[in-house]
Amino acid sequence: GDKNLQNPEGSCRPLSEADAGGGSRGVPGCDSSGRYQSSYQALFHLLPHTEQHSPEHKFLCTLSVVALCKQLQAAGLEAAVSSQESPQQCSKPKTCEKTSEELSPELKTVAEAMLRHVLQLQCNAQAITVMQELGPGDGAVVDKKPVRLATAFFPVLSLLNHSCCPNTSVSFSGTAATVRAAQPISSGQEVLHCYGPHWCRMRVAERQQLLRQYFFECRCPACLQELESGAKSVVSIRNSFCCPKCQAQMQGEEDTLCCSNEACATSASRDHLSGRLQDLQQQIKKALELLRVGKADQAIKMLLKCQMDAGTFLSPEHLLMGEMEDHLAQVYATLGKWQEAARHLRKSIEIVEMHHGPSSVETGHELFKLAQILFNGFAVSEALSTIQRAEGILSVHFGPQSAQMQELQEMKACLSELPRNILQRT
Ligand SMILES: [Zn+2]
Ligand SMILES: [Zn+2]
Repeated sequence: GDKNLQNPEGSCRPLSEADAGGGSRGVPGCDSSGRYQSSYQALFHLLPHTEQHSPEHKFLCTLSVVALCKQLQAAGLEAAVSSQESPQQCSKPKTCEKTSEELSPELKTVAEAMLRHVLQLQCNAQAITVMQELGPGDGAVVDKKPVRLATAFFPVLSLLNHSCCPNTSVSFSGTAATVRAAQPISSGQEVLHCYGPHWCRMRVAERQQLLRQYFFECRCPACLQELESGAKSVVSIRNSFCCPKCQAQMQGEEDTLCCSNEACATSASRDHLSGRLQDLQQQIKKALELLRVGKADQAIKMLLKCQMDAGTFLSPEHLLMGEMEDHLAQVYATLGKWQEAARHLRKSIEIVEMHHGPSSVETGHELFKLAQILFNGFAVSEALSTIQRAEGILSVHFGPQSAQMQELQEMKACLSELPRNILQRT
C-alpha cells in the first residue's frame, strides 16, 4: 500500500540529502519522538547507495533478482510473495496461461523492492553470530567460538558509524541485537560500532581495504595514529616470522625475507616459511584429531613437538603460539591435570590479550575457560579473581543474563560454599 514501494528508485535520494533530512523531517520508520518502530519503512529507507556501486555489481544483483522472480513465477508462488491475492487463488495453476517472458506487474513490484534490499546489503548487512560450543565437550571445560549464523538488517544498528576502536559491543539473541557500552560514553559523544575491521585484529591497510565496501575512509583515532606515525602496526609484528638462527624478526615486503638483526644477515624465502606454517597447522589439526579419539597423551606429545618447531620460525607472540597453548590446556583439562592446564591457558590468554585487546570477547572467553579450570582444580582464590575479570568483560559483550554470566555466578556461589578445610589447601 505504500506509494514508495511502487517506485523504489524514486525514493533513492543522494546521501547528502538523506543525511541532512534526518533531524528536521524525521527518520523514516520512527515515531514522532524519534523512536524506531518495527516498521517496514525503516528497513525500506536504509540507503542502498546505488550511485556508488559498480555497474558490474548492479548488473549481478539485478540478474539474481530477476532469476529469483522468474523461479517464483514458474512455481506459481508470485501471489504468495506479493500477497495481492488470497491463498486459495494462489494454488490455481494460473501461471500456465502466461507464456510471455514478462514478469507480472505484482512480481515487478516485488522485484524492485528485492533489488533495493539486495543493494542495501553491502552497507547495512549485519553478520549474526552466536557462541557455539566446540570440541569434544567432556563437560569440564567448555570451549566456545563465535559462529556466523545469518545476515540481517537492523535499521537502528545501521545508524551507528564505524570506528576501529569502538565504544560499544553488539551481541545477538534470537532476532534481537543488543548494543552495550564497552566504556563510559559521555553525553554528546558519538556512539560507535565496529563494522568488523578492529584495530587489534588487523593493520590499518587491511582495515581500510575492507572498509571500502562502505564507501568511506576511516579516520578513527586508531587509523589516524597508525597512518600518521607510519609505524608498522603491532599486528604485523606480532604475527611475523622470526629468524631461524637468532630469533630476531624477519623483514621485507618481497619474496625474500631478511633477518632484522644486521649482524645475522640470514635470509629465507617467504614461500618456504609460509609452507612451514601450513605444515605446522596440519600437525596441530592431527593432534586435535588424536584428542578427539581419546589419545590425549599422544596429542600432548604432538603439540609439544609443534611448539618446538614453531619456536624456530614464528615470533613468540604469533597467534598460533597462543592457539597451541590453548590446545595444550584443553588436553590437560581432559586428563584432569588442572594445574598444567591453567599454566598453558595463562600463556594463551597473554597472547590473546595482545592480539584482541584485554576487554575483547576473545579474552573474555579465555578467562571463562581459565575460571572453569581453576574451579575444577579447587584453586579458589585465583578462580574467584578470574571469575571477576571474566564477568567484567562478558557482561559488556553479552549482558548479565547470558548463559556464561549465569555459569560464572554459579561457580562463584559454589566456591563460597566450600568447606574451610578445602579452602585452606589452596
Ligand atoms: Zn579506523
Ligand atoms: Zn637472524
